Amino acid sequence: MKRDGACTSLWQDSSTEKLTNGSTEKKELYDVVIAGGGFTGIVTGLLLQQAGKSVCIAEAYTAGFGTSGGTTAHLNSFLDTSYSQIIRDFGKPEASLVAQAVQNALYLIKNNVELYKIDCGYKELSGYLYATDDKQSDELNTIQEGALEVNLNSSYTESLPISVNFKSAIVFPDQAQFHPLRYLLSLKEQFENAGGQFREYCRITNVKEDEILTIETSAGNLKARNLIYATHIPPGVNLLHFRCAPYRSYVIAVRLLHDAEYPDALVYDMEEPYHYIRSQEIDGEKYLIVGGEDHKTGHESDTEACFSRLEEFTRKLFPSFTTIYKWSSQYFEPADGLPYIGQLPGNRENIFVATGYGGNGIIYSHVAAITLRSMLLNGNSTYMELFDPNRIKMVAGFSNFVKEAADVVSKLASSLVPPGAIKDLEELPAGVGKLLKYKGDKMAAYKDQQGNIYAVHPACTHIKCEVAWNSSEKSWDCPCHGSRFSITGEVLTGPARKDLGKYDLNGS
Ligand SMILES: Cc1cc2nc3c(=O)[nH]c(=O)nc-3n(C[C@H](O)[C@H](O)[C@H](O)COP(=O)(O)OP(=O)(O)OC[C@H]3O[C@@H](n4cnc5c(N)ncnc54)[C@H](O)[C@@H]3O)c2cc1C
Repeated sequence: MKRDGACTSLWQDSSTEKLTNGSTEKKELYDVVIAGGGFTGIVTGLLLQQAGKSVCIAEAYTAGFGTSGGTTAHLNSFLDTSYSQIIRDFGKPEASLVAQAVQNALYLIKNNVELYKIDCGYKELSGYLYATDDKQSDELNTIQEGALEVNLNSSYTESLPISVNFKSAIVFPDQAQFHPLRYLLSLKEQFENAGGQFREYCRITNVKEDEILTIETSAGNLKARNLIYATHIPPGVNLLHFRCAPYRSYVIAVRLLHDAEYPDALVYDMEEPYHYIRSQEIDGEKYLIVGGEDHKTGHESDTEACFSRLEEFTRKLFPSFTTIYKWSSQYFEPADGLPYIGQLPGNRENIFVATGYGGNGIIYSHVAAITLRSMLLNGNSTYMELFDPNRIKMVAGFSNFVKEAADVVSKLASSLVPPGAIKDLEELPAGVGKLLKYKGDKMAAYKDQQGNIYAVHPACTHIKCEVAWNSSEKSWDCPCHGSRFSITGEVLTGPARKDLGKYDLNGS
């Protein structure tokens, strides 16, 4: 299984995609084309195809290539944006509606697992959130108040499933976990069995907007009545890029030594950035999965150090372990704390989007599938207004919005920081990517272990911010909107549509 980074995730290494059994004969006209074959694309595609629509999923690489292949798969009813915050910023009825949407997403997942008999280690268990000081305890109290207001089952607890000193903690029963790629690939199979088409290596590059959309792709044109961008962030330049900030999160999957017990629960601390812990058994092998050390994409010069900090954190809780897998992946934080699901701002009404999930995207992708299914079938949805991508919530999101927008301005190529000390390509160490000054110009250069140099132009093709080197995933990451490029400049993650320009080192 492929993924958008150099590190291999636990999920990639324990999944095999069955050969596609769906039809690949291109139809004249589809009811719906979906860009992206992650959770959002595949779950939405399945619901629409089953409802009688003809659906084609066009995926730039292969199923699960994006964050869905690098996630951690905690299935939570409590969210990164607490219900108390949602009540404060949106109101209590709206917060209750979010809780209802999340509950329906959890039912949909459970139902899929049971209905299709998916062998993905799905398990229901409790989630624990713990505070280690007074400030965190106060925050925890507020979180608990919000949870009770929306009737979310939760209570204070005196014990935790891990050995750690804590001040206070709450437990949320009825959470769940699973193997994300095994679940995703099974749903892809169901989608194809239902008559849906899944096109791999089919990147959507442009759309001619009309009642019937002409969708240009790297594998020829498609025609459709509707288009859904399930690309995690929509490509091109859109209002939503100023309302979603890209973050990276780091994960290790370790084997505990000396018969140490694996916690049978989901556990979260309240540090800044926070950590999340769970276990998973795959084919008889147990793993402890620890995530965290999040930062804004492109804002950490040594991404390897994030893994070291994660291991340090883990060692405090579990003194002896061997790290088997480590990987990182990207998510998009919405300005006002809720996702954007519905019509894509500034486009025709037959173009839809689902983005801004934060760290709850498995849940929100299912919320998106439920919402978009209803919008496309009935023209409306219970959740349409709540998650409207065109909403303006200046009260809730204003400070975030200004901060993110200001950050973009400071990273534009016109105000680039001077390049690092290395002036010459020869001095570039093997296995390292650096921004260099080369014959008066700027260059993003990477040297492999054999000494081959891959040099590309560092101005992101989205809106010309300067890309930064991600040492662990060996990619060029844009700090403004999260576009990511391979060492040879190919787009790994949007919103950029175009590859980075290559330097011809031989000719120059
Ligand atoms: C480390 C980490 C841990 C997480 N843990 C959790 C968790 O425990 N629980 C939870 O609920 N959420 C979690 N999340 C969030 C969740 O994993 C994501 O929000 C979710 O996987 C996003 O799914 P998606 O389908 O929207 O996007 P993706 O999985 O990123 O899929 C988008 C797809 O679109 C394709 N694409 C892009 N551009 C184009 C184009 N122009 N044409 C065609 N295809 C295109 C890409 O190749 C990609 O395959 C986590 C996120 C991270 C980073």
